[in-house]
Amino acid sequence: MDTNVSTIVVLGAGQAGAWAARTLRQEGFKGRLVLIGDEAHPPYERPPLSKGILAGEAQAESLHILDSAALAELSVEWLGNTRAVEIDRRGSRVVLADGRVIPYEKLIICTGGRARALMVPGSDLPGVHLLRTIDDTVRLAPVLRPGARVAVIGGGWIGLEVAATARKLGAAVTVLETAQRLCERSVPEALSAYLLELHAAHGVEVRLGAAVTSFSSDDAGGLDVVLSDGQAIRSDVAVVGIGLIPNDELARTAGLECDGGVLVDAQCRTSDPHIFAAGDVAVARNSWAGRRLRLESWQNAQEQGIAAAKSALGQHLEYDPLPWFWSDQYGTNLQIYGIPMPAHQMVMRGNPAAGSFVCFYLEGDRLIAALGSNAARDLRFAKRLIERRTQVRGEDLANPEVALAKL
Ligand SMILES: Cc1cc2nc3c(=O)[nH]c(=O)nc-3n(C[C@H](O)[C@H](O)[C@H](O)COP(=O)(O)OP(=O)(O)OC[C@H]3O[C@@H](n4cnc5c(N)ncnc54)[C@H](O)[C@@H]3O)c2cc1C
Repeated sequence: MDTNVSTIVVLGAGQAGAWAARTLRQEGFKGRLVLIGDEAHPPYERPPLSKGILAGEAQAESLHILDSAALAELSVEWLGNTRAVEIDRRGSRVVLADGRVIPYEKLIICTGGRARALMVPGSDLPGVHLLRTIDDTVRLAPVLRPGARVAVIGGGWIGLEVAATARKLGAAVTVLETAQRLCERSVPEALSAYLLELHAAHGVEVRLGAAVTSFSSDDAGGLDVVLSDGQAIRSDVAVVGIGLIPNDELARTAGLECDGGVLVDAQCRTSDPHIFAAGDVAVARNSWAGRRLRLESWQNAQEQGIAAAKSALGQHLEYDPLPWFWSDQYGTNLQIYGIPMPAHQMVMRGNPAAGSFVCFYLEGDRLIAALGSNAARDLRFAKRLIERRTQVRGEDLANPEVALAKL
């Protein structure tokens, strides 16, 4: 460990930032540790925001990764409600919106991303919501009443989770997606088709190829969501879930190399050797994907936050995780390991109609990726087969009589 470091600043107090701060202390860092975040809440996990918290089944406090007491115990100077406006690399300091400056020897950027807004007329109307923070969920939850008409714009993960939660709460839901299938950017066709059936079976109207061109309020206090073909979807509330914009502006202005996020190497180091980045904002090469990418996932926020902290302390590591993502919708647990691609051969075990199945994606005799519904056990074995690069046969994977553990 580099014991000479006196001050480490973690910029961004979300999941990655919290894990970076916690790890620095766990690994024995005794110097000044400052955690800067522009939200009022101590660092928290976001996945339940569209699930249990939105459904009113859990309290926001249950999301906290480090509460105020834990931050104090770790001697972390948590600057909440505090926005950083500049990374001054020449002076090795972070400038805050209130004029204060925080010097650093090492800086870990964990600024995550913000929900992408739909840039059409009326998107600033009060009935149009985005979902990224606890405060967003607190605003949205009360309007998802039984009978409320909810238009979800975007058939990606967040949109579909909001749709599922809104249905659970008794709302009438329409999902509007411009693409020809759900979650087009992140999943293969087999899963898109399954998701479409899952939502239809729960009474969601899914409209594919539907482009929203404006929002307008009607006289009765409702909201018209207007499509490119002129149709208006009468709604009480609209939730826009059309992706994430990485918060890499400070890094870019500071001259760090960025390409759709802050570029880092396998040690989570940016183009400045004293500055690291982790979580949704970081772009890294991933050997499982065969390219550079940002991993927007709970797993990556935690593991890369930990890796960046260790690396900032001088430990050598190669961060190259097998990507893992999960979602819960209508009591169905969906998981994806690896990055399935059209070139892979797909074999299926189980039966989508019965709600439980796994799709395996092969390159020759190697398993590259796997996804499935309500099949956590099989997927855990699949993960091992992928990571160990075990030789497998498609017919064994597809055959439910063959135990994956034996492979
Ligand atoms: C509703 C929702 C549901 C999700 N569900 C799942 C799921 O089921 N499975 C899964 O794997 N992943 C899920 N995710 C993704 C996962 O939560 C994210 O990948 C993870 O939160 C990323 O953590 P992060 O720390 O990189 O970024 P963030 O959590 O975005 O934290 C970054 C923090 O930095 C702050 N910040 C930014 N700029 C500044 C600045 N200049 N000054 C001060 N502070 C700043 C931000 O306000 C924010 O608080 C979900 C995300 C959302 C929003």
